[in-house]
Amino acid sequence: MKSAIPYLATIGLEVHVQLKTRSKMFCTCPVEFGAEPNTHTCPVCLGLPGALPVMNHEALRMTVLTGLMLGCDIAPIGKFDRKNYFYPDMPKNYQISQYDMPLCTNGNVPLHDLAYPKDAQKNIATPEKEVHLVRIHLEEDVAKSFHFETTTGIDFNRAGTPLMEIVTQPEINSPEEAFAFLTSLKQILIYGGVSDADMEKGQLRCDCNVSVRPENQTELGAKIEIKNMNSISGVRRALGFEIQRQIDALERGEKLQQETRGWDEVAGETFLMRTKEFAHDYRYFPDPDLVPVKTEVLLGDVRGRVPELPKAKRARFVEQYQVSAYDAGVLASDLDLARYFEI
Ligand SMILES: [Zn+2]
Repeated sequence: MKSAIPYLATIGLEVHVQLKTRSKMFCTCPVEFGAEPNTHTCPVCLGLPGALPVMNHEALRMTVLTGLMLGCDIAPIGKFDRKNYFYPDMPKNYQISQYDMPLCTNGNVPLHDLAYPKDAQKNIATPEKEVHLVRIHLEEDVAKSFHFETTTGIDFNRAGTPLMEIVTQPEINSPEEAFAFLTSLKQILIYGGVSDADMEKGQLRCDCNVSVRPENQTELGAKIEIKNMNSISGVRRALGFEIQRQIDALERGEKLQQETRGWDEVAGETFLMRTKEFAHDYRYFPDPDLVPVKTEVLLGDVRGRVPELPKAKRARFVEQYQVSAYDAGVLASDLDLARYFEI
């Protein structure tokens, strides 16, 4: 249904990125996708009582590197907290995460024209838009549940994989911008060698917060979260569906409530999962097993690892090789292609 009153969509993303370290965040088990279930485990990542975590310094460096690539402020001290909740894929009953002292704050992701979906590249609402970030923090991934016909199995190989959470400001205004943000972010993560960011392998996962409001209203509408999106095109489709669903509800005079929804890829619809829980439900407190980290000791090393980023590479290709801006964009969108071009 097309509406007579124009509506504005406000979207914020929470992106989870598995880091490409050799071992897990707090133990020496290897990080490897597709291994036989429960073959990469130990007392630490199984959450057995008395097992003590040991910090993976490379995961800290990769998070700081991501912060530098995205122009973030790097916190002088990083601290880990316990996020308490119960779920079968997390036998400790808490996840080690960062609460009030994330490693990185602020920063931004520049959106390039070619990062938009092909059919939307001719009609970009805000060219050269930069999406600002709230924070980047480091945490451990949980195990993965597999639901069979009558049983559920849990694979602990994923438990304890270093996971970065990147949170944007709510300043994305369309499904196409969300698509461009994820595509641009993925390129930068690959450039930095911090993640392969392969959504099919669960290396990049995304929760979307979306609300709509009539254009003449300043107050934001009810924030609705869509959980666990695992493809960039899926994010675009889910947001497109959800924005229209909310507009239709408002047009019918319904009041929208804050809630969490899932995305059914086959049906092409979002569905209600639960009403939203609040942060204080998690009863965060500092993890007594882990000392705070001074980032100063990491920074010297990490600064030297900041690569030439896609935006700078595009500009250099135009300048140095006199290729068109479009060709430079295509070349720089794929790091292997860009390297091959320069051989
Ligand atoms: Zn382990």
